[in-house]
Amino acid sequence: MLVADDRVTLQHERMVADQMERRGIHNPDLLRVMRATPRHLFVPTNVRSTAYEDRPLPIGHGATISQPYIVALMTELLAPAKKHRVLEIGAGSGYQTAILGQLAAEVYTVEISPELARSAAKTLRELGYTNITVRQGDGYQGWLERAPFDGIMVTAAPPELPEALIAQLSAGGRLVAPVGPIWSQELMVIEKKADGTIERRSVCPVSFVPMKPARPVKYS
Ligand code: SAH
Repeated sequence: MLVADDRVTLQHERMVADQMERRGIHNPDLLRVMRATPRHLFVPTNVRSTAYEDRPLPIGHGATISQPYIVALMTELLAPAKKHRVLEIGAGSGYQTAILGQLAAEVYTVEISPELARSAAKTLRELGYTNITVRQGDGYQGWLERAPFDGIMVTAAPPELPEALIAQLSAGGRLVAPVGPIWSQELMVIEKKADGTIERRSVCPVSFVPMKPARPVKYS
């Protein structure tokens, strides 16, 4: 009979092999990091037994941890490198942040929910990721004091691409974001060329939680 730890290891390995390698994720550094990152420790205990399943999971406060394949796909599209400074919008559980932290030099992440910002920072600290800074705030503003960034990953969906984020990309930098109306968005890759021109392409349809406006919208 398998003991609990063996079962988690098996589910973790199956996640990488079946959900990532078989679907065309081949970057060896990314696969190594997906194998090394304990996804079950980033989700609430009530959903922990399903942490390696092929779907997003609720993490409270209206947020979800993305489906593992989407985390891998977005990371592959961003292509973080060891010398890169990366900004993430929407820390949520901190799982995507941890993946980025192992592939880039420095990661900055902005989370609008104070509770999630606090718990993501705690999880990341306890697991020993030291090149990550978590801040509670409004992601639409990016993180001006730390800009420019070689990569920006947005993990909640804005209705349109926020100009402030594009402005905080370095020349040659890349932004990956789900963009569009509630629950029906396109995964977009935006590249800022050395001469400052912007190239954009759409990768596939996705479904993310909407990016919240900084202040609650009042309807009268
Ligand atoms: N990357 C996360 C996914 C979390 S879901 C993970 O791996 O778990 C998206 C997150 O974006 C939620 O935590 C939500 O609170 C946050 N969010 C929504 N609107 C935001 C905004 N305007 N600024 C910053 N974070 C925001």
